[in-house]
Parts: sequence; structure tokens; C-alpha cells
Amino acid sequence: SAEEIKANEAALDKFKMSMFSLKGKVAIITGGNTGLGQGYSVALAEAGADIFIATHGQEGWEDTRKMIEKRGQRVEFMQCDLTQDGVAQKVIDTALEKFGHIDILINNAGMIKRNPLLESKDEDWKNVIAINLTAVYHLSMAAAKVFAKQKHGKIINIGSMLSFQGGKFIPSYTASKHGVAGLTKAFASEMGAYNVQVNAIAPGYIKTANTAPIRADKARNQEILSRIPAGHWGAPHELMGVAVFLASEAADYVNGCIMPVDGGYLVR
Ligand code: NDP
Repeated sequence: SAEEIKANEAALDKFKMSMFSLKGKVAIITGGNTGLGQGYSVALAEAGADIFIATHGQEGWEDTRKMIEKRGQRVEFMQCDLTQDGVAQKVIDTALEKFGHIDILINNAGMIKRNPLLESKDEDWKNVIAINLTAVYHLSMAAAKVFAKQKHGKIINIGSMLSFQGGKFIPSYTASKHGVAGLTKAFASEMGAYNVQVNAIAPGYIKTANTAPIRADKARNQEILSRIPAGHWGAPHELMGVAVFLASEAADYVNGCIMPVDGGYLVR
């Protein structure tokens, strides 16, 4: 129809300026200094965003800072334990104080504890749920209040293939990542009315320090490789495009989606 042609032409005009541009945006990325998080931080900076990284340790800070500043973007770090009471609100308040506004939140920080179910400890359950799920809830709540008021914002949660399926020896991780999928859908269904999109990325097997113990087990590694149609482990840079897309206005009508980036693992 004429109306569709007009809307498509307008959208294509935006392509010229790049629908994926994050110029003028500020992104908060938890754990954005290492592994997958570092990839998201530098990719969003390349797309034009300034970056606020809230994280535990100082590993990777200098490399991450250099990569972001090289792209002409500003980066600030906040060292914190995201599982402590009140810290989520403090992250949002500090980012607002430093940058004046916030537009994107990537809930990336997480951990895994591997143990056979019958040997699992309550403490592991508590710690894994605290960072992988409860901190995601608190950070999303604090950001959602700001985003609802300004009538725009993007929340990107980091799920996993364990958001969809079960896995041996990681009961707390599996439960937490299923929880992340549920949280994403719950937030999406209410925040859409405020022009706030809430989506999740579900990475497959990605080479980071976190997954080194799996690769060290030759038989297990072989079994995994045989189930990945792409035939190789993913790398943090292979998640960059999806992160930038979901953070950009190109994804304004994408909401409540849990997007696998797994070399096809889930369909095998
Ligand atoms: P990393 O361990 O490299 O990154 C996690 C980051 O989160 C670290 O910088 C860590 O800091 C930080 N962090 C953990 N707990 C806290 C806390 N309480 N407060 C503040 N920061 C914290 O792991 P990956 O890059 O591999 O994983 C990143 C995300 O991607 C996680 O959510 C993970 O579950 C998910 N994922 C990873 C996959 C993979 O194959 N690698 C597959 C699917 C999902 P510190 O090290 O100092 O504790």
C-alpha cells in the first residue's frame, strides 16, 4: 500500500544515517570488562555510545578503557558487588550523575557453579541466583523507572542456552537463566507501553575464561563440537552485532525476544 511504501522509504532513509548508530547514547554494562561483556562494551562504543561499566574486579579495565577511548567514546568504571543491597540503585544513580542520562542497560555479569545435583551446596544456589537473577531484577527495576519516565530505553539481559534447556551439573545456573528468560518476558510485556524494549541474548558455547574448564576436558569438548552446526566455539566478537542491533533503534519493534547466538546448537 502507499502507506507501507512511505514507511519503508522513511526507514530506508534512516539506514543512510545508520539505524544501528548509538551516537549520543549511554550504556551501562555489568561485568563489561571481561569476556563477553568486554565485547559488548567495545561494540557499543564503536556504534557511538558512551559506556559505564559496573563490575567486581579490575581485570581488563585498562584494555577495555583503551579500546573504548580509541573510538572517541567516554568510559567510566564502578567497582562493586552487584549482589549487595542497594548497589543496583547506586549503579543507576552513579551513571546518571556521571553522564546526565542513560539509555541502555546490558545485564551481563554472571557466574556458574558446576557440581552434580546431589552434591550441590545451598551456598552455590544462593550465590548464583543472587548475581544471575536477583541482581538482574534489581538493576532492571532501577533502570526501568528512569526509562519509563523518559519514554525510551533498552534492557538487554544475558541468558544462555540454559534459558531453554536443562543441563547436567549446573542446576542453579539453569534455574537462574530460565529465570532471566521469564524476567525478560515479564518486563517486556509491561515496559513496551513506555517505548522500552526488553530482550535477551542467549549465547551458546563461547570461548571465555569462564568456559576454559570445559574445553580442557577433551572428550567433553569433542562432544560439544559435534553438536554445534557451525563446527566451532563462538568468540565474544561474534556476539557484538546482535548486542548493537538490540541496543539500537533498528530493534524498536523487537520486544520480549530471547535471541540464541549459538552457531545453531539449539536446533541440532
Ligand atoms: P566472565 O566471568 O568473563 O564475566 C563475568 C563478569 O561478571 C566478570 O567480570 C565478573 O567479575 C562479573 N561479576 C560476576 N559477579 C559479579 C558481582 N557480584 N558483581 C559485579 N560483577 C560481577 O564470564 P563470561 O564473559 O563467560 O560470561 C558473561 C555472561 O554471559 C554471564 O552472564 C554468563 O552466564 C553468560 N554466558 C556465557 C557463556 C559462555 O559460553 N561464556 C554462554 C552463555 C551465557 P569477577 O570475575 O571479578 O567476579
